[in-house]
Amino acid sequence: MSLFFPTLYRRRITDVTVEDLRRLGAACVLLDVDNTLTTHDAPELEPAVMAWLDAMREEFKLVVVSNNNAERVAPFAEKIGLPYYAHARKPLPFGFCGAAKQMGCGRKQCVVIGDQIFTDILGANLAGMKSILLEPIQFETEQKFIVFKRKIEKPMLNSRKQRARKERDYGER
Ligand SMILES: [Mg+2]
Repeated sequence: MSLFFPTLYRRRITDVTVEDLRRLGAACVLLDVDNTLTTHDAPELEPAVMAWLDAMREEFKLVVVSNNNAERVAPFAEKIGLPYYAHARKPLPFGFCGAAKQMGCGRKQCVVIGDQIFTDILGANLAGMKSILLEPIQFETEQKFIVFKRKIEKPMLNSRKQRARKERDYGER
């Protein structure tokens, strides 16, 4: 079960602080795209998210890791000025490991940030990396499989949140 738990829980990417990432020992941050940085139907970043990226890139190496193909990821990554690792096949760990290698970092120095337990968090744990689970920016109602996954994720998320509340540290384990 611990394979499905993130190291930290935060609501939005903009809630993740430099201190959070330092405490996790991050040198490199591996970023999911859909519902983490942006929504499926809005490829533009919110100004607050862009400001967050600009602050974080001063401190850490950042890389976009996506299951989408390079044709979709490359223009987005270029627009926000970040390297990318496409067709990552999350939750398999190889994409995360490949991205870490590409950035010249060991897996212990990597922190994965994403919104899905069954891709981002499971993949990070399988790769031996720390992770931060966000609430998705927007549920993709038209994508039935994702909706199905959310239903399975919900009880896990709820139990995790409850534990986090009890621990009064908002999700650090
Ligand atoms: Mg996502």
